[in-house]
Amino acid sequence: MTALGVTVLASGSAGNALLVHNHQEGLLIDSGLSLRALRQRMRISGLSENMVKGILITHEHIDHIRGLRVCAEYFKVPVYASRLCAEKLRYLDPKLGAVVRFAPGGEFQLGEFKITPFPLEHDAVDPVGYVISRCSRKIGLAMDLGQAGRMTEFQLRSCDTILLESNHDLNMLAASQRPWYLKQRILGPQGHLSNQQSSECLARVLSPNTRNVILMHLSQECNTAALADASARAELQKLQRTDVNLMVSHQDKPLETAWA
Ligand SMILES: [Zn+2]
Ligand SMILES: [Zn+2]
Repeated sequence: MTALGVTVLASGSAGNALLVHNHQEGLLIDSGLSLRALRQRMRISGLSENMVKGILITHEHIDHIRGLRVCAEYFKVPVYASRLCAEKLRYLDPKLGAVVRFAPGGEFQLGEFKITPFPLEHDAVDPVGYVISRCSRKIGLAMDLGQAGRMTEFQLRSCDTILLESNHDLNMLAASQRPWYLKQRILGPQGHLSNQQSSECLARVLSPNTRNVILMHLSQECNTAALADASARAELQKLQRTDVNLMVSHQDKPLETAWA
C-alpha cells in the first residue's frame, strides 16, 4: 500500500504537533502539546500510540517543543533536529535525551520514510521545513517562515500534500493591539507568512501532483479560518485548481487525516 497520510493534531502559536504516517507507523513533527493533550488528540484521530517511531523538530520556539522531553521519554523514540537546533534544545533542557543531528539540505531514511529537511527563513536557530516521502508519495511542510524563498518553493513543488503557513490577515494584524515591535517581527523576513504571501507561494508551487493543501499556524488574534480559506480558495480558482482539497488546520482540535 502506498498511501501516505498527515494528521495535524494542533497548529498555531499555542502549540504545534502533526503526525506523518501510513497505516502502521509514523513520525511526529514538533511536540508543542503536553503529552496528555497529544495522546488525547491521537486517540480522537484514531492513531495508535505505538505508531510513533521518531520526533522531528522544526525549530526551538516553545509552541513547537513544549512537550518534547516528556513525549520523547513516553514514546521511547529518538528526537531529530538540525545541528544548531539540537544544541539549542539541549541548552533549553539539559535533561533531554539523545538528539540525532542532521544537516539541512541532506537526506536520511527513517523506517519507511525518506526525510529531506530544508532551511527556512525564521527568527530561530537553524529552522527547517520537511519533505517526507514514501514510495512515490510526498508531503511537504513549511510553517513559521517570514518569506518563501526559492529553496522552499522548490521543495514544495513536487509534493502531493502541501502544508503551508497562513499566519495572519494584514488588516487584522494592523488593527490588533499588538505592540509595534511585535507587528514588525511578524511582518519581517524572518517572521510569519500572511494569507496573501501564502496564497502567492501556493500559486508558484502547485503542480499536477498537488492533491491536498493544508493551511497552517493561523494566528488566533490576527486571522480567521474563513479569511485564510477564502484567500487560498480564490487563488486555486484563479488557477482552475478546484480539484485540490483545501483544508485549514485548527489550534484546539485535530484535523481529519489528509491522504495522498
Ligand atoms: Zn510557531
Ligand atoms: Zn516560530
